[in-house]
Amino acid sequence: MKLTTILFILVFIVIILEIITKKVTCPLRPSGDITLFTEFLPNEEAKKILTELRNRRSKGESISKLEYKKVFEKVIYKVPASRMGSWFGVVPQIGVDICFIRDNLPTIVANLVKRHELEHLLQTGQEKNVEWSANVAVIKEYHWRSLFMIPFAVKDRFSFYHGEPLCLVASLWVNFKKYLLPF
Ligand SMILES: [Zn+2]
Repeated sequence: MKLTTILFILVFIVIILEIITKKVTCPLRPSGDITLFTEFLPNEEAKKILTELRNRRSKGESISKLEYKKVFEKVIYKVPASRMGSWFGVVPQIGVDICFIRDNLPTIVANLVKRHELEHLLQTGQEKNVEWSANVAVIKEYHWRSLFMIPFAVKDRFSFYHGEPLCLVASLWVNFKKYLLPF
């Protein structure tokens, strides 16, 4: 197949996906009640740990995977899946020193999500795409194991759209653009 034909097909698919996304009226990111997690605040210990990490990063110090993992327990709380909707993890608007992850994720996926959310807490605001940038941090430490996230995320999304295939397609497309494109 010629390169121009492949490009034409890809552009065609993208246009169809964009049209579907514009047409559907269902929520593309079913959310829970994350704004209510005020019971976890304030957390002075988390604030202190993150401030130290931010300072070290701003000086260009490298921080090991193990060091980041140790911080997980201090700044990330598991919350019931029923309160998280389709979110695996989230940094709430109400405080930037802690974050939450769903309590029903398999261990490997939970670790990937924890590292992703922790990266959000450490971001400087200079990132072009905060989601992609958090994913790059995950990929640097978990390498090929980061790929576990994709089939799990797709399978999970199916559970929110029974009998609504166009909503499912639109949801997957929107999330693909948000999380897997660097711009
Ligand atoms: Zn994120």
